[in-house]
Amino acid sequence: PSRMYASKGSKRDVLMGGLLVPGLDERTCASRYSSAMYRKNTARSPCRHLVKRLREQEALQRRCGPGTAAYWRAAERLGSRRNGTAGADDEGCKYLVLVPYRGLGNRMLAMASAFLYAMLTGRALLVDRGESLADLFCEPFPGTSWLLPPEFPIKNLQDLTGEAPESYRNLVQSDRPATSVSELPYVFVDLDHGCTYHDKLFYCDDERHFLHRAPWLLMRTDGYFPPALFLNPAYQDELDRLFPRKDSVFYLLAHYLLHPTNKVWGLITRFYDSYLRDSDERLGIQVRVFDGDTPFKHILDQITACTSQERLLPEVVEQEPSSFPAPAAAATAARSKAVLMTGLNSWYYDNIRSRYWQSPTATGEVVRVHQPSHEEYQRFGSGSHDAKACAEIYLLSLSDALVTSGWSTFGYVGHGLGGLSPWVMFKPENLTTPDPPCRRAVSMEPCLHGPPFYDCRVKRGADTGKLVPHVRHCEDMSWGLKLV
Ligand code: GDP
Repeated sequence: PSRMYASKGSKRDVLMGGLLVPGLDERTCASRYSSAMYRKNTARSPCRHLVKRLREQEALQRRCGPGTAAYWRAAERLGSRRNGTAGADDEGCKYLVLVPYRGLGNRMLAMASAFLYAMLTGRALLVDRGESLADLFCEPFPGTSWLLPPEFPIKNLQDLTGEAPESYRNLVQSDRPATSVSELPYVFVDLDHGCTYHDKLFYCDDERHFLHRAPWLLMRTDGYFPPALFLNPAYQDELDRLFPRKDSVFYLLAHYLLHPTNKVWGLITRFYDSYLRDSDERLGIQVRVFDGDTPFKHILDQITACTSQERLLPEVVEQEPSSFPAPAAAATAARSKAVLMTGLNSWYYDNIRSRYWQSPTATGEVVRVHQPSHEEYQRFGSGSHDAKACAEIYLLSLSDALVTSGWSTFGYVGHGLGGLSPWVMFKPENLTTPDPPCRRAVSMEPCLHGPPFYDCRVKRGADTGKLVPHVRHCEDMSWGLKLV
């Protein structure tokens, strides 16, 4: 048990059933061992096989990571554009370099997905830090770094696309892919949500067939691709052993991998302690608008229709009560609900907060409405903007119930980390409030937006939402795939 565990007298399992290793410095990453204290309960625990495989992956990361002789040899061969012929270094080191991109939600989904793939295929995961990742997340692996060293020989990783000669897309279209792999210094896998049919054959790839010959796999993705891995027969047995329950894959991966740095943890805890902690219940409402950054009446209507129909927020009444309790009695007697709203615009928040100021609630409940920031528009390459986004995603995950915006990876990470099946607001069409406005999701898992439409077993096109019971189409995107 850690110091914080003892000092707060909590019986919470800060290591989340063995998901986390003890012994990492609490001072450099306070969230790792104290975030469990902010959650009502742990939605899911890892099974023994997952815990064992995580420890093995940590050992692999230490053996092969930056600073090791194995890493320098492999990087040197890559720089001189030679393949390692045997496929891996003497130390058995092969690498997956992830280039996460787009918004923070996209990048967090990408990191969790790539980590699972690295674990399945025995590769060390290294992450291109971009502008801000190192300021947002702690190192996940003890005794090593997952950040790609700046001297990495392949530059401009952000510019790689499936058009590159080293791409998996070209490889699968060549006559002798196994020979081609051996001749390439690396293979680039493009899993952008808009990638092509040939890129997506990667999801059917049996690593043992030829990709294992590539000592370096470079990958760019902006989404959550584990649902596609669960459709590949090559990984089925191992995935079943790692995740006997399929509805909490992201929850476990993200709680293992993504711990906010002290800077972000400060933003999270100060807000939580000031505005959320003392309420009887916490409802998160994530407002992500894809129609534009100005306020939209149809979106406000959608939020109120959803929270009213699903009884997530109390109704308001016209009539003021005939008597008002004394202040002290009112403070203790009334049930209180804190509403955490997040969004780029503050107009929705202003309206909902006003509603509960202007009128009493039918139930007598006290409703407190808060929104940490309103950044107006999505920014790129701004550290403080990303830190706020990161803090807000985590704050959403500390809710007791969550309403999210369909299609938003920001929302997916919020509910996935929170272990919550959200009420998903459907994405409006033609600037009109959808009817119904929202629906309860069947699981807490994120949705894969650019899924394969191909059955790996029979090698032909198929409805991939109908192949196995635990991979289904998403509530918010009819062609997307999610684990249930
Ligand atoms: P998605 O576009 O909804 O799938 O989510 P992403 O997180 O990938 O990208 C949206 C980006 O816009 C975020 O990363 C933030 O930079 C910004 N953003 C969107 N919604 C919010 C919000 O509620 N709060 C803050 N602080 N930033 C937001």
